[in-house]
Amino acid sequence: MKLSEHFDSSEFACKCGCGGLRNGADINPRLVQVLERMRAILGVPLVLSCGYRCPAHNYEVGGVSNSQHIYGTAADVQKPDGVSVDAMYAAAEQAGADGIGWYSWGVHVDVRGCPARW
Ligand SMILES: [Zn+2]
Ligand SMILES: [Zn+2]
Repeated sequence: MKLSEHFDSSEFACKCGCGGLRNGADINPRLVQVLERMRAILGVPLVLSCGYRCPAHNYEVGGVSNSQHIYGTAADVQKPDGVSVDAMYAAAEQAGADGIGWYSWGVHVDVRGCPARW
């Protein structure tokens, strides 16, 4: 299902093969807005390495038990070629993300409702 101009719900589906999004829940629309803004700021397509995680998969990958990924409010964005993680981090900030995490592979962004930085 198309969520916005450049993102489809399949991109947010759980990677464990369980069938995707949390039962009855959807991906937070504000998260999709933030990702669209980041894409516009950076000027490149964004690839999500992780969106929604079912609790079992979250446990499997060592996510914290209250990870935003199990609520459909977070996405991990892979670093595109030619873009630095610092630029991605700044774009996430500018795009209005609540939680932003810096990693060598890219950034975690979420819309948890309060600011968080790491
Ligand atoms: Zn799963
Ligand atoms: Zn994450």
